[in-house]
Amino acid sequence: MKPASPIPAPLNSAQLTGQSQSHLQEVFPGHFLHIDVVAAYRGLVEQAAEEGITLRLASGFRSFDRQLAIWNTKARGERPVVDSEGQPVAMNALSERDQVFAILRWSALPGASRHHWGSDMDIWDSAAVSDSYQLQLAPDEYAAGGPFYHCTRWLDELISSGKTEFFRPYIQLESGSKAEGVAAEPWHLSFRPLATTCEKALTPDVLRKLIENTDICLQAAILENLDEIYSRFIRL
Ligand SMILES: [Zn+2]
Repeated sequence: MKPASPIPAPLNSAQLTGQSQSHLQEVFPGHFLHIDVVAAYRGLVEQAAEEGITLRLASGFRSFDRQLAIWNTKARGERPVVDSEGQPVAMNALSERDQVFAILRWSALPGASRHHWGSDMDIWDSAAVSDSYQLQLAPDEYAAGGPFYHCTRWLDELISSGKTEFFRPYIQLESGSKAEGVAAEPWHLSFRPLATTCEKALTPDVLRKLIENTDICLQAAILENLDEIYSRFIRL
């Protein structure tokens, strides 16, 4: 059994919502994690290597501005919005409320991304594919028959053994229990000791003030539905 990591200090509200990078350390060029997560991440990479897996970060920290740009390009129709099966959604046919919930299937509300915290990351296995492979972060890549299935199975076993402090917040293990929230993301890992303190600190009030003061598409629909957004997509 691994010794439990010390509980990291709580993030301030700028760090919590991706508007500060003062809590981060660069672990790979252009990829950042929370200072208190780096050692655990490196340990996970070493454990993976013993199984022939070259664990790589597709995405660690993501800033508020980056998440806002993703949100706004999807809301404006400049980037496709897809449903949980990966099929394009006809945004024009939806009410503003339904547009908000369609985007939330795959993209966090700016300020509410777990990637703001530095505790969460999207991972892949570069040993399983060629150098020219174009990573999609699609469910098929991580399922049986996909290149990262070996990595998926290894993580399944590691997590269920209780020998790691990483977990997958966006996964439904039982088929049929597809909750009306974020789509399953087998590539998304979260470092529990830090993520737990962040989950508690990120209240609906923090988000409401932030969205009210942000130039964001669908702002009125977000604010009207914020309590539902919070319970379905943010509080896991
Ligand atoms: Zn992610």
